[in-house]
Amino acid sequence: ALIVQKYGGTSVGSVERIQTVAERVQAAVQAGNSVVVVVSAMGKTTDSLVKLASEISSQPSRREMDMLLSTGEQVSIALLTMALQERGQAAVSMTGAQVGIVTEARHSHARILRIETERVKRHLEQGQVVVVAGFQGISDAPDLEITTLGRGGSDTSAVALAASLQADACEICTDVPGILTTDPRLVPSAQLMTDITCDEMLELASLGAKVLHPRAVEIARNYGVTLVVRSSWTEDPGTKVTAPNRLPRPLEGLELAHPVDAIEFDTNQAKVALLRVPDRPGIAAQLFGTVAQQNLNVDLIIQSINEGNFNDIAFTVEKDVLEDAKNLASSLIPSLRGTSEDGDTVALVTDTQIAKVSIAGAGMIGRPGVAAKMFSTLAAAEVNIQMIATSEVKVSCTIAAEDCDRTIAALCNAFDLNQSP
Ligand code: ASP
Ligand code: MG
Repeated sequence: ALIVQKYGGTSVGSVERIQTVAERVQAAVQAGNSVVVVVSAMGKTTDSLVKLASEISSQPSRREMDMLLSTGEQVSIALLTMALQERGQAAVSMTGAQVGIVTEARHSHARILRIETERVKRHLEQGQVVVVAGFQGISDAPDLEITTLGRGGSDTSAVALAASLQADACEICTDVPGILTTDPRLVPSAQLMTDITCDEMLELASLGAKVLHPRAVEIARNYGVTLVVRSSWTEDPGTKVTAPNRLPRPLEGLELAHPVDAIEFDTNQAKVALLRVPDRPGIAAQLFGTVAQQNLNVDLIIQSINEGNFNDIAFTVEKDVLEDAKNLASSLIPSLRGTSEDGDTVALVTDTQIAKVSIAGAGMIGRPGVAAKMFSTLAAAEVNIQMIATSEVKVSCTIAAEDCDRTIAALCNAFDLNQSP
């Protein structure tokens, strides 16, 4: 099988660790695999380089930052390759440019356009392990600028290589045993997940799970890469991040094709709004605490800032629990009322004629303006936005249900997506 293994900074953080990684890579070869290894810079090297730059200049140019930061990975590929050769394992190190990772000409946050894999394949055929510098690429000729993919970009390099080489698996080898249900430093009882879908992973990543970069997950999802997150030091199977079965996409414009990967809509939501709620600490906690106790799943929440001491708070729930949510909200009204001087103000309204429309895609990370483009598209279509919620990989708006179809059409058009049947 052809395997891409990625080792993060901690896993190659010292000479001993590099030797252990070499041993593992060699074991994978001896088990009959062709292996491409992608590595990060040793330990906190990248941070140290950033600090060094900040001591020289308060506004270093992005180009020179890329020139500087790309050196970190060049150290670890050379050392790991030496360690492999020392063990009698044929291996060759390659920079992003040498391995054919062609990116946009955009310093510090470049996206991968394509990978020219002929050279890697040749080395693999000769029985060599190819050790690749993660996090970096090169812009198209004639400029051939050294670029970096954004912090944490080695995951992206690894998965993109796996996609281009049609590797059988991409293993992200790291200092945790896999994807855990929550942060084990905060919750000692955190459980290891054996399987998780790419979509679930994207939502986790946007909430701050630091194990796997969302751009890498998105490439895995789009190109059907089999992704495994596992410990660098044990044989445990780790967590399999499964991609849906998809028609293979052309690899041209690998990461780029669209900052927005999908347009989703949901017409099964209803809105509950509490109007003129006194503005004081604890109101949201009281409301949503009670809602959660009743096991009502709230999706979008908006709180408007009103003049005076009142807020409007609205949230959405699935239509079939609207009655429950409504009863619950109205039962809270007496306790939400302000002091007698405020008067008897709180009012409850609901609306079932709404739709939630979302644009989704890890491609929007590091691309300012995607949300703005969604809003201006809706404005041009004269669609009124009621509520907005954003995560790193999604922007959702609620709108009037009757506007749903033309909103989707306008968004597909604006983001260059074919409307799915
Ligand atoms: N060395 C780079 C960084 O620290 C890339 C990576 O670790 O994935 O951001
Ligand atoms: Mg890292």
